[in-house]
Amino acid sequence: MVRHRLQIWGVAVLFMAASVGLVYDKLNTGKEVIKKIPTTHKVVALTFDDGPHYKTTPQLLAVLREKQVKCTLFILGENAESHPEILAQAAQDGHEIATHAYSHRLLNRLSKEEYSAELDKAEKVIRTVAPKPTLFRPPGGAYNEGVLTAARSRGYDVILWSIDPGDWRRPSVSQVVNTVLKEVEPGSIVLMHDGQYPLPTPEAVGIIIDRLREQGYTLVTVSQLLQYYEVRE
Ligand SMILES: [Zn+2]
Repeated sequence: MVRHRLQIWGVAVLFMAASVGLVYDKLNTGKEVIKKIPTTHKVVALTFDDGPHYKTTPQLLAVLREKQVKCTLFILGENAESHPEILAQAAQDGHEIATHAYSHRLLNRLSKEEYSAELDKAEKVIRTVAPKPTLFRPPGGAYNEGVLTAARSRGYDVILWSIDPGDWRRPSVSQVVNTVLKEVEPGSIVLMHDGQYPLPTPEAVGIIIDRLREQGYTLVTVSQLLQYYEVRE
């Protein structure tokens, strides 16, 4: 029995060692998707998907301006095409403009030609008002090897998230706030949305920022967060 347990532990330790090696290797070669950053610094990135929306995004930008926080917006190409002036405002405010592809179709269900077009059309729209995006989040978090290869060949890091308060399902403001505060840790990437109206998100974000600052956190963009990556031996 004891011997059996030891064997299990041995396997577990080997597995953990292999995992650490894998993470180390993948992050150093840019071949892994990023859900959070291992760091001892109290830094967090708030991210917003699916905008710009003509009502929700200006609300969100107003809160971020008031709090003097810069975030990463994973924007949808077709929404940017409808509201280029809002995207331009976000870029002008100093937010990081990242790509969420063009039409929110799940890319892992598309042909190579189709998902390539989704990426290229989105980048073209973004570049009319903002720098070339370097970060990509696949719609629905859905990807496959082909999608990852296509994203990386365009110079994108693939970013997912570690905290999902489900704001798009329209829970209460306090539910969104509580989920984020309960799950936050150094290096977290928080997924929220600004692609529909109404959403509890803009109001929740103001409270989240205040509470995180009270706890000693600094709010950064995803690109800034990546600079905090710490390799642990
Ligand atoms: Zn989305």
